[in-house]
Amino acid sequence: MEIKGKNTSFLLDLLNIFLEILIKYSYNNKKCPLSLPLTDSGKGGYSMEERTFKITSKNSNVPLKIAHGHFATNHSHVNYYIDMTTLKTRQSEAEAAAKALVPHYIANTVVDTIVCLDGTQVIGAYLAQELNHSGFMSINAHQTIYVVTPEYDANGQMIFRDNIQPMIRGKHVLILMASVTTGITVRKSAECIQYYGGIAAGVSSIFSAVDEVEGMRVNAIFTGDDVPGYETYTSHECPMCRQGQKVDALVNSYGYSKL
Ligand SMILES: [Zn+2]
Repeated sequence: MEIKGKNTSFLLDLLNIFLEILIKYSYNNKKCPLSLPLTDSGKGGYSMEERTFKITSKNSNVPLKIAHGHFATNHSHVNYYIDMTTLKTRQSEAEAAAKALVPHYIANTVVDTIVCLDGTQVIGAYLAQELNHSGFMSINAHQTIYVVTPEYDANGQMIFRDNIQPMIRGKHVLILMASVTTGITVRKSAECIQYYGGIAAGVSSIFSAVDEVEGMRVNAIFTGDDVPGYETYTSHECPMCRQGQKVDALVNSYGYSKL
């Protein structure tokens, strides 16, 4: 029995090594092998989990999980789902992400408040700590950085309640996001911060498909260049839709829902 168990585990190891080589080979050739229709495992396709593979940022050791397919977001259709779940929830990964974001800022940047979107509060707290350690200035009376998250009204409009508004009004506000695809959310957030009397000090994101939004630079750990063949389309210009390729899942900052 023991020998049989060892053999099975050896075969599994071999299979894993083979899969890894296949994924690496395809990644190097800017193609993903897992571009088959998303189905449940064992039904002739690959499940979301099976088609997910990991890339690492160039200048730091931040891992990012990506899955190839046809996905619909609020504002666009994309050919990759970028899974930020563990980056946002695993302490060590959130800290590594914050550390990777800090070098994007020069030390005379003033940051009073970090507004965390897309569930990035854990990264936001570490980012505040890293900015403090690196000697960044804040003009807050308490010489520290506020980390806040906005509320959304029934129309999806970002709002700040009266108790949070003093952390925005007259403050240098850094917008922290998980993913920037079209820039629409960045623009809306900056407008909202200005509406409440804040000064948008910059945008940080784990992943961004764009370099800047309306003159504001988006500092990202991962860009479109890091994700092989990453494409974003408006829903009516999506070539995958035109080819009749079924949308695999709806995605937003909370995650994905298979269709
Ligand atoms: Zn589409």
